[in-house]
Amino acid sequence: MPKTRIDPWGAIEIKDYGKVFKEFGLKPFPNEYKKRLDHLAFRRNIVIAHRDFEKIYDKIINKKPFINMTGIATSGYLHMGHKAVIDLFIFFKNCGAKNFFGICDIDAYTSRKKIPDLKTAKEFAVSNLADALALGLTKNDVYIQSKKEQRYYEFTFEISKKITGATFQAIYGTLDLGKISANLLQYADILHGQLKEYCGKMPSITAIAIEQDPHIRAVRDVAKRLPYSFELPSSIYIIHQPGLKEGMKMSSSEPDTAIFLNDKPEVAKRKILNAFTGGKDTVEEQKRTGGNPEVCKIYNIFRFHYPDDKKVEEIYKSCKSGKLLCGNCKEICIKFVENFLKEHQKKYKKFEPIARKMIFD
Ligand code: SF4
Repeated sequence: MPKTRIDPWGAIEIKDYGKVFKEFGLKPFPNEYKKRLDHLAFRRNIVIAHRDFEKIYDKIINKKPFINMTGIATSGYLHMGHKAVIDLFIFFKNCGAKNFFGICDIDAYTSRKKIPDLKTAKEFAVSNLADALALGLTKNDVYIQSKKEQRYYEFTFEISKKITGATFQAIYGTLDLGKISANLLQYADILHGQLKEYCGKMPSITAIAIEQDPHIRAVRDVAKRLPYSFELPSSIYIIHQPGLKEGMKMSSSEPDTAIFLNDKPEVAKRKILNAFTGGKDTVEEQKRTGGNPEVCKIYNIFRFHYPDDKKVEEIYKSCKSGKLLCGNCKEICIKFVENFLKEHQKKYKKFEPIARKMIFD
């Protein structure tokens, strides 16, 4: 059992990824795959590690089906960090995957103290689902946990017999009953696509942040104990888009760390203007010695979202050389984010009534 225990529900940035890889037995994401897979998350080292991705790579290259599974616990509004995960889900969808995007309202209610009742989780579900549809998912790609079929819940109870309290304790530390039930649902989310009532046995991929790895370790263990011949789920690990404040990831519970998909453009502008940068103390010093894009929250907005590789590289180089100053750089960023938000929010309006119907009807 690894010495480090990561809190899947925490908001702290992981500093030493190398140490975490080693302890949890993750493999660095191979350069060969980065070159062949046409998505910025691979090219820009946002996907950094994997478990058993070879199986998925093989399916993609040979144009064979595989399961694409991820989900969102509907405990708050979505931000740009969530967008990065959804973008990657859409990449796998376009590679010919069978898609299971979970809108996990029951999970959100049972695992998060801040969600007082299921109705609140469902209201966030409406918003999260409308965002996901506006970003490019279709109705057929998603399922809503509280409206899942009886077979899914039956399967969740089957899973409950295959994991002990001691295992939960060892993986997660002390857990309350709500979190235990949310975890059982998450294991069902990842595995149920392989039941014969859905797609049948086939490899599955789930893109997660590294602190979600306890769930993957647990689900792989459970998969072996169930009376089905499942493929062990594969996973890739994405780094978090850094939060706008120093040392924090983008977090729904810390509004000023993130740009939310429903932020008014002027709110996003204020957040960008106040964000932590890799700039120097004075303009003269920055012109002379250059900035530090690696730690800069503005640069990371470009890195995670700006579609044009050349432009991102140009920003990186001119920051490093001292040619680009933070004021100008923030202006470019504000324009990019404002345009994205305006477009996105227009689409969101169109999808909100559809999402509401899907959740509440
Ligand atoms: Fe960051 Fe841009 Fe300033 Fe460089 S110039 S430190 S990328 S804000």
